[in-house]
Amino acid sequence: MKWSINAGRLFGIQFRIHVTFFLLLLYVFFSDIKEGFGQAGLSVLFVCAIFACVVIHELSHSLVARHFGREPKSITLLPIGGVAAIDMMPTKPSQEIVISIVGPATNIAIAILLVLFGGSSIAAALNKSVNPTTSQLFIVNLIVANIVLAVFNLIPALPMDGGRVFRSILALKFGFLRATLWAVTVGKVIAVLFVVLGFFYNPWLVLIGLFIFAGANSERQQAIYLTMLAQRPPDLTIPPEYINLNQDDRITRQ
Ligand SMILES: [Zn+2]
Repeated sequence: MKWSINAGRLFGIQFRIHVTFFLLLLYVFFSDIKEGFGQAGLSVLFVCAIFACVVIHELSHSLVARHFGREPKSITLLPIGGVAAIDMMPTKPSQEIVISIVGPATNIAIAILLVLFGGSSIAAALNKSVNPTTSQLFIVNLIVANIVLAVFNLIPALPMDGGRVFRSILALKFGFLRATLWAVTVGKVIAVLFVVLGFFYNPWLVLIGLFIFAGANSERQQAIYLTMLAQRPPDLTIPPEYINLNQDDRITRQ
């Protein structure tokens, strides 16, 4: 992806950060600076913690895809989330469901771990008679963020995880191409809804809607391309004008 910087490798997978991600951190910092330097720093730390969970989410997709023989190429962090680029190969619908569902499941697992290790934070946040500490609020907000990430990613709009699961379920009955075309249509309708709702409530939704719309289009192209490849005759016959050469034959220009 253009305008991304290399930030090392995770389990052998290229990890990139898009430059606009740093703009998001600057935006968060300067939005909260009126509440003090410490609060602004804490907000940036919280955003980084959410995005660390996003990276773990993308990593789970990539590692499960590798388990099924598809090579993960890179993970890119964007201000609206993460993108795991995985080798474009036809996959069994059942495998695609596992690869897709493991991301949201990872966020739920992180939320459960945070509840197990920070249970007292939830008790403090729910107890109205005492003020929870900063770290307790941090953990509770991170638990909520992971649940929101899991639920949001399960919205059935290609290219989001829920859309991939939806496409794979359809593919079991209608085949890969028809299933993709249906899922793309549903994805685009949801994308337009996001854009319209975003204009009234949250500009972030507009960006996510546009991202889903563009992603749905590229999923459509990929599905057509993969189907054409799959329909190519498996053994290409050599045209009669080609002749076989032996190892010691001489080639001369006439
Ligand atoms: Zn995902």
